[in-house]
Amino acid sequence: MQDLTKLTNQELEEFFNSFDIILSDIDGVLRNVLQPISGSVNAVKFLQKMGKRFVLVTNNTSKSIETTYQELKVAGFEIEKSEIVSPIAPIVAYLQKQNLVNKKVFVIGMGVLKQAIKDAGFILAPYGPDRIKDSREEFCSLANEDDGTVEAVICDVDLNLNYLNLQKAETFLKRPEVIFIGGAPDVKFPVGTGGRILLGPGIFLRILEGMSKRTSIHMSKPSPFLNDYIMEKYGIKDRSRALFIGDVIPVDMAFAGNCGYKKLLVLSGLESKSSLENWGYEEKWKPEFYVNSLKEMHEMALRVFGK
Ligand SMILES: [Mg+2]
Repeated sequence: MQDLTKLTNQELEEFFNSFDIILSDIDGVLRNVLQPISGSVNAVKFLQKMGKRFVLVTNNTSKSIETTYQELKVAGFEIEKSEIVSPIAPIVAYLQKQNLVNKKVFVIGMGVLKQAIKDAGFILAPYGPDRIKDSREEFCSLANEDDGTVEAVICDVDLNLNYLNLQKAETFLKRPEVIFIGGAPDVKFPVGTGGRILLGPGIFLRILEGMSKRTSIHMSKPSPFLNDYIMEKYGIKDRSRALFIGDVIPVDMAFAGNCGYKKLLVLSGLESKSSLENWGYEEKWKPEFYVNSLKEMHEMALRVFGK
């Protein structure tokens, strides 16, 4: 793991010439909440001017690609809508490949994901009622309902998830033929800058996987399933010519490590240098390079390539 700012000019030149495409996370790399991280807009512009293609890869399915695109545009980034990927499109593509159009899918997810599933021609299996009586009998009867028509279960982020719907998902998954797709695997959900961590949506996915004794098909970083979609969509032939930039080791660096991309960790998001010094993850997730922020990466590019 090398600090990018400690490389010699020749090493920096080799680094910048070693990739043609940059796959980058969004939150913690380009922006924090909606604020662009200082210097990131200019850094992206400079790298684009150098001929590097940017593809943004986020695990966030609570926003549509259109919304993310507009937010980034307002912040000053010039990145095409078609170059932003969230798990939504790969999930839809996977269901299409399984010939589930016009078939029922039970979706634990936010409105944006549900709408995308509906728009693609799948039928949303209904959620249970939001409130039931304080009655175990009613709960059990609703939770066990399964007429055998649901053919896939998706478990992603749903801020309104309740006990009954989680249980319904587990009921459908009792049938081994039901396809099981998982979204965001994060068990921690950091909020704000004060270090506050909430329960992540991955906790619910773990509950379903544990109860059903099945592993879901993860369609988000760090799963290589997401990468199949990315490589096909962006025509990536040579993974060694792609650099992945991210701020979370078990999500971004793990994805890049699992998929064979070159890795750059930025310390402008969730991780600090101590995560590198006290490495507690798989060796193949170790980033080859790290840097405080995209701004510093830009400064290093300027050092060797000038304006
Ligand atoms: Mg991030």
